[in-house]
Amino acid sequence: MTTNPYAWLEDSLSTIHKANWYRSVQRLQNRPGAVVKLEGQEVINFASNDYLGLAGDERLIEAAIIATQHYGTGSTGSRLLSGHRELHQELECAIASLKQTEDALVFSSGYLANIGAIAALVGKRDLILADQYNHSSLKNGAILSGATVINYIHRDMEDLKHQLVYHRHNYRRCLIATDSVFSMDGDLCPLPDILSLADQFSSMVLVDEAHATGVLGATGAGCVEHFGCTEHPLIQMGTLSKALGSLGGYIAGSATLIDFLRNRAPSWIYTTGLSPADTAAALTAVEIVQKEPQRRDRLWQNVEMLKSLIQQSLSALNILPSESPILCLQCPNVEDVLNMAQQLKAAGIFAPAIRPPTVPTSRIRISVMAIHEPTHLQLLVTSLLRGLV
Ligand code: PMP
Repeated sequence: MTTNPYAWLEDSLSTIHKANWYRSVQRLQNRPGAVVKLEGQEVINFASNDYLGLAGDERLIEAAIIATQHYGTGSTGSRLLSGHRELHQELECAIASLKQTEDALVFSSGYLANIGAIAALVGKRDLILADQYNHSSLKNGAILSGATVINYIHRDMEDLKHQLVYHRHNYRRCLIATDSVFSMDGDLCPLPDILSLADQFSSMVLVDEAHATGVLGATGAGCVEHFGCTEHPLIQMGTLSKALGSLGGYIAGSATLIDFLRNRAPSWIYTTGLSPADTAAALTAVEIVQKEPQRRDRLWQNVEMLKSLIQQSLSALNILPSESPILCLQCPNVEDVLNMAQQLKAAGIFAPAIRPPTVPTSRIRISVMAIHEPTHLQLLVTSLLRGLV
């Protein structure tokens, strides 16, 4: 007698339901913006990574249309075969110029950039020291690389040093990997201290600037610029899908690093090149980031305004310490956070509940954008207050 080899899927799903971990999608029915239509309801959008409001910008849309008309819809192959276009090179030059690095390499997503770079840089004989709250792409990249992975306590430099002292000498190469802005907390990694420890213990550093690109630093280059570490040799990863309003990811660094990755990063070599439309939109976004610092100013004004509104009326709230446009309201448990997200939605606010296993504790994640109006921020705070009483 044969048993159904897929039967376990139902059991597994029911376990996910029981633990309140079940996730489902919600349809957004118009262009990204500060106010969006979500499953038929108009809501103020605090769930987006489109920090500068560029994903719905006419100039990015126009660039994508022109690129599609000129180059077609798909890249048709790996960049090493038929998938390379002049646009890719222009985008890579523009990213390198923004990041003040010698070169850059564009991947088809940020996730693929992390997985590919880590797998290329370290292997079985090597060590990865990773912040415990790193993004899933860094975590999975580390696992896939085959290197030994040790997590250090979140942002804890004593612990990182301890791990280096006890383990570094047992391995050929060591890579320290960290988010620059932690995506589910909103705090920053202590980059100067990480770089100094890396120097002492002859280790490479990969910093994930997904939520910092276009957002932090005087010219929007990210956390590395914010901390004045631009001159330091390191591996900078970022995504084109958040403040840059498009799709794709990048690694920026020395010409040698990029040349090496072009030859060794499997998720760059064996996947189709980024589409002309996404490439052109990202290129336009990088130009806007450099030409329009007022967008970033507006974003930070909004962040400051929201923080001060929260302080005035909601000081009892458990908001995690944040140095970015990501503000997280901690909730005691999964039921409470789901209730809170539902109440906010009923009040016309879209701010998602983030639950374990994505994060250790449940929270409402609020993402501020440059295109939010003061009234949007005020309504958010009023609705949060109502949700609490
Ligand atoms: N790193 C971090 C810190 C992220 O938050 C994300 C996206 N959520 C990624 C990498 C992956 O980027 P992408 O969405 O471009 O694949």
